[in-house]
Amino acid sequence: MDVRLVKEIAGRLEERCVGEVPPPGLSRKDHIVKILYDELAKLLGGESEFSFKPGRTNKVLMLGIQGSGKSTITAKLAKLLTRQGYKTGVVGADTYRPGALVQLRTMCERSNVEVYGEEGESDAPAVVRRGLRHFGDSCDVILVDTAGRHKEEGELLDEMKRIGKAAEPDLALLVIDGTIGNRCYAQAEAFHKTVPVGGIVVTKLDSSAKGGGAIAASAATGSSVMYIGTGERIDDIEQFSSTRFVGRLLGMGDVRAVLELAKRLEDGDQDRLKRISSGKMTMDDFYQQLGEVAGAGSLQGLLENMPGFSGSVQTGKIEQLEGRIERWRYIIQSMTQAEKADPDLLNASRIKRIARGSGWPEHDVKELRKGYNNSKGMIKASKGRQMQGMLRRMGLG
Ligand code: GDP
Repeated sequence: MDVRLVKEIAGRLEERCVGEVPPPGLSRKDHIVKILYDELAKLLGGESEFSFKPGRTNKVLMLGIQGSGKSTITAKLAKLLTRQGYKTGVVGADTYRPGALVQLRTMCERSNVEVYGEEGESDAPAVVRRGLRHFGDSCDVILVDTAGRHKEEGELLDEMKRIGKAAEPDLALLVIDGTIGNRCYAQAEAFHKTVPVGGIVVTKLDSSAKGGGAIAASAATGSSVMYIGTGERIDDIEQFSSTRFVGRLLGMGDVRAVLELAKRLEDGDQDRLKRISSGKMTMDDFYQQLGEVAGAGSLQGLLENMPGFSGSVQTGKIEQLEGRIERWRYIIQSMTQAEKADPDLLNASRIKRIARGSGWPEHDVKELRKGYNNSKGMIKASKGRQMQGMLRRMGLG
């Protein structure tokens, strides 16, 4: 990735990490992961797809240098859109590369997408004009594939400008090879100055490349990634998901679990969050917080996805914790309102009564009280690291 972008992201990350307080229950580390995700997703423009306008022909111009996978993605997209119910036509205007038209026709044939092209014609803008006239208003979408190479870059960009004028596209999609890294920025910038880019496609994400260049291309053009190419076959195309992409980029598999936890905690009952962070957590608060962290059966997935945690938590221990949380529910239900609000009241005789009422041995009631006290102590000692602390005190992590 471009070093200027890295600096910009690092700067924002530092500023927000220092200035923002994580919601109670979210560790400092997870909060940083979330901020980093937010910043990267912002650069990527979030999730977006082209909104096709009904009742008219939507013209999409495919841009990109030779070898980026432009023809391949044109054929893939034509099939995808056809499957989604859009009548799609393709204009093959790569008049520069020998065999480009045949390749496009071969790929589109199997999905019954018509390709307009002129063998031997070298005037690409003229092919585009005639191609658009050929389809008229018979299509919902027309994809225009263009050349990606000329003797000189200046010539290529000049031709793109003329094709842009001939096509008057509703959307110019820039195709970026996911393996080229930080050269993306300059490339995207040059295209964008010639024909305003409205969306990005990143190809070859099936390789070991992480596609960091997509962020650079997004930043250079101010547009979002819409699709990704994940292989050489016609169906290897996906709608872009920033969660999956950033997870892959950060080498975390999927950051979704952390994000969902952060959202649940942020959306949680504000009074409860205030009570917890001011050190006045009740037994109910403790239980709810624990339940949110554990989720309904999602604890294993959550921990597996958490950087630093994966592999360190044994399945048996998770089951133990889940079993414990289940017991604690019955025990808490047997407490009076006063005891829940102030668990310091739990003396020997109250513990005996609660044990009898809940049907669990006194030992379990004491264990709950210990869990509660540990958690409360942790919150007081270091705000923000509660969750990891809580899990560690439960014998996990
Ligand atoms: P163009 O010159 O931009 O039109 O590029 P092509 O569509 O001809 O693709 C160049 C090469 O990249 C071809 O060998 C394609 O099979 C390959 N290719 C395109 N997209 C992908 C992809 O998503 N994954 C992989 N592994 N290869 C791809």
